[in-house]
Amino acid sequence: MTKKILLSGVKPTGRPHVGNYFGAMKQFVDAQTVGHHENIFMIADYHGLNFIQNKEEMSQLTLDLALDYLAIGIDPAHSVIFKQSDVSAHTELAWIFDTIVTMPYLMRAHAFKDAEAKDKEISVGTFNYPVLMAADILLYDTDIVPVGQDQKQHIEYARDIALKFNHIFCGGNEFGKGGVFKLPEPLIFEHVATVPGTDGRKMSKSYNNTIPLFATREEITKSVMGIVTDSGGPESGGIPQNVYAIHKLFRNESDIKSLYEQNKGKYKILKETLIEDIDTFIKPLRERRAELAKDPAYVLEVLKQGSEAANKKASEKLLEVKKAIGVL
Ligand code: AMP
Repeated sequence: MTKKILLSGVKPTGRPHVGNYFGAMKQFVDAQTVGHHENIFMIADYHGLNFIQNKEEMSQLTLDLALDYLAIGIDPAHSVIFKQSDVSAHTELAWIFDTIVTMPYLMRAHAFKDAEAKDKEISVGTFNYPVLMAADILLYDTDIVPVGQDQKQHIEYARDIALKFNHIFCGGNEFGKGGVFKLPEPLIFEHVATVPGTDGRKMSKSYNNTIPLFATREEITKSVMGIVTDSGGPESGGIPQNVYAIHKLFRNESDIKSLYEQNKGKYKILKETLIEDIDTFIKPLRERRAELAKDPAYVLEVLKQGSEAANKKASEKLLEVKKAIGVL
């Protein structure tokens, strides 16, 4: 029986944080452990180019993310790890999709609307982000895409684009039957769909409210001490909501409930326990990453092999697409 395809990616735009991990990357490793899927993990450097426009920084961040993937336990023997820019079929397919996607449709994307609301001048690349992401997903006949809540709409866009393509070029019906592209499903776990940062907002590289996934003990301490201790009003019963919300990522629910019950109002003790728990979790990852970083040639070899595997699959799909649109 052929395995279902599970694909996801992360942008190399800075150190990943525990929000990226619990929201998405942990699901990458868990899927690999279960072994029911064929796993493909992308370093989304062309998406990252919308943010990182410096040669040295881009190449460093890309290698760093490859190390991060390996350090959390993604094993190249069981998963493909590749760089988006190594597979030119992504941008080629995005162009083909551009011809069937309308501007008003893209203008309904949350990311675009947020940027507009903030009066930001956005690049065409940022505007077109959902189309490239649809290409990333659809090129591999992806069934499942583990992501955080902020990416949910992008998976819906990928489905819409697949349906539209199938309908226009392959006579597929509106239920997705028939055609070149499969309809992907998001994999989002409610309890980690939006991991909060140290200020209670969504944890995000751009809000400066993160706990880096490979943080040193000192960095963990600094981040945790910086958590805004919002008591959440009388109904919270002396439980600091922001500390609790992060803590429950690292301990089971019943443990954590009794810990916070016993230490009502004792913010210092609770934060110290949180530092200890985060460090216990991160330490082995940090050490593994440091070990892997000693061998950059290995990391490059992993990316080379990943690119070969990804190119093989993607070029077969692109051939199908080209036949469907009549250019072959
Ligand atoms: P990015 O760095 O934007 O490429 O994000 C990588 C993955 O992490 C995506 O699947 C995001 O949806 C997910 N992610 C980012 N921030 C969070 C968060 N605060 N909570 C849950 N998932 C997140």
